[in-house]
Amino acid sequence: MPPLSRFRDPRHTNYRFVDTVLVRCPKCAEVAHVVPGVCLASDASRPSVSAPRRLICRNCGLTRESGDGPGFFTGNGQACDPYFQVPLWLQLETRHGWLWAYNLEHLELIRQFVQAPLRERAPWHDRGRKMTLIARLPAWIKRAKNRAEVLRAVERIRSSLVT
Ligand SMILES: [Zn+2]
Repeated sequence: MPPLSRFRDPRHTNYRFVDTVLVRCPKCAEVAHVVPGVCLASDASRPSVSAPRRLICRNCGLTRESGDGPGFFTGNGQACDPYFQVPLWLQLETRHGWLWAYNLEHLELIRQFVQAPLRERAPWHDRGRKMTLIARLPAWIKRAKNRAEVLRAVERIRSSLVT
């Protein structure tokens, strides 16, 4: 059995992928980045989820600083980043709903999950992280009969980033 046929939930949560979020620039509508703002140089660990964020557009030069902490998107419509509530770049509306990812690493995790015929859940005794990113995916993304369609959507989202 090839290794990719089995997917093991790495039990990441949405927090795992918010260090770099790709968004649609509110000024020029090109791709912009939301990254941790003022970096605490003494701290080599990952920046805190609640640390201030900075929106940077290399195309038009827009920069913004976030005020409040993250407010994670939970709706069914177009997805926004947790800090500026600006629409994500990596998203696409399918006939089932919106497929979205914060960044390419996140999109790749979804792709690996969807393409794997065998999917392992996080173990039942792992009480700490029941609601992993994978567990939270909408049911239509998890349905086997939607697999080809979801994978096509993933590829279309990925190709939207080719410059
Ligand atoms: Zn811009």
